[in-house]
Amino acid sequence: MKAICWQGKKDLRCEEVPDPIIEDPKDAIVRITSTCICGSDLHLMNGFVPTMCKGDVLGHEPMGEVVEVGPEARARGLNVGDRVVVPFQMICGECEQCRQGNFSVCQVTNRNKDLAKAMFGDTTAGLFGYSALTGSYAGGQAEYLRVPFAATTVVKVPKTGPDERYIFLSDVLPTGWQAAIQADIQPTDTVAVWGAGPVGLFSAYAAKILGARRVIVIDDVPERLARAADVGCEILDRRGTKVVQTLKEITDGHGPEKVIDAVGIEAHGPNEVMELIDRVQTALKLETERPIALREAIMACKSAGTVSIPGVYGGVSNMIPMGAMMNKGLTIRTGQTHVKRWTDDLLRRIDDGEIDPTFIISHVEPLGRGPEMYRKFRDKEDGCIKVILKP
Ligand code: NAD
Ligand code: ZN
Repeated sequence: MKAICWQGKKDLRCEEVPDPIIEDPKDAIVRITSTCICGSDLHLMNGFVPTMCKGDVLGHEPMGEVVEVGPEARARGLNVGDRVVVPFQMICGECEQCRQGNFSVCQVTNRNKDLAKAMFGDTTAGLFGYSALTGSYAGGQAEYLRVPFAATTVVKVPKTGPDERYIFLSDVLPTGWQAAIQADIQPTDTVAVWGAGPVGLFSAYAAKILGARRVIVIDDVPERLARAADVGCEILDRRGTKVVQTLKEITDGHGPEKVIDAVGIEAHGPNEVMELIDRVQTALKLETERPIALREAIMACKSAGTVSIPGVYGGVSNMIPMGAMMNKGLTIRTGQTHVKRWTDDLLRRIDDGEIDPTFIISHVEPLGRGPEMYRKFRDKEDGCIKVILKP
């Protein structure tokens, strides 16, 4: 089958690889009908995630049709012909964390728990197409995907309606939703969101639905900001602007009550000098990432407010304003999304017409154009905001 493979930093190729087979009674094989490129995939492409191996199949936002099921998956109600969205994480559904809905830290599904424990102090769930650290599982930017722990992992969706309506349940829609829920939004709140990529757009959209008084989205890519405006948000183009100062000025002088960092480790600086400081430190291995948006979010946040961080961080960051965090009494909420905690509710809201997630889509392309679309997405060429690939 064809699949998008990681061959090294900035070297992705669409290649012929062996078809997946059932390896465990809990497995299912899904024929992929749509599969997205995520901002998290850019961190792999750009070499921010250690433990990638040459030939790794990428992708963690797929959906499709079940074409083969192992006996245990069948016994738990999964059948050939089911239409499913595959969340980016695998879950056993039975461990202590899964029983509490903390699915992204399932204790069972990561095959390389020792690696994760050495890096983070405890294990995370197994993830599709996301390095040895999260279990060395092949991803879903491919014609077929083996889904381990299939019956507990997948989200069944209605047989009718376009893929575009459901596919974002795999990751970015629940991620924006969780980011807004974790911000504990009150009707009097102003919420500021850094990043108008798919995660930031859905965080802002969710904040509106959850009743925030004002939602302000910050980025420097005009067409992305325009999508935020389309769903009723105020926008702040950060070019030539002192973001923290401007936010103070347009709120009550104290800043937004709730701030969301939907940028993560590859933020660009407010100016070249600030960005250079992080670039030099990452090159010298003094830190592993560029927490530029996070620093601004912490400084902008009103005292006693909440900082919600869906943006991905992987290692160590420098110059995080701990003093501001502590002395303003901020609450920090973060994490990989517990996707299935939110999907029943989100699926119902989609089918009721309350949520239309399609507004983030900019490109629908054949799988073979994947490597080129990664570049366009990274470089924000051609108005690229969210790419769906069709195998
Ligand atoms: P993306 O790359 O499309 O979007 C990031 C946006 O941030 C871009 O529009 C960019 O212009 C903007 N940006 C860069 N520096 C900025 C700054 N200093 N201030 C304001 N905006 C800035 O990515 P995405 O798909 O939207 O994902 C965003 C982040 O969320 C990534 O780190 C991704 O890994 C992470 N993510 C987390 C989860 C989770 O489970 N927590 C799930 C999916 C994605
Ligand atoms: Zn993703």
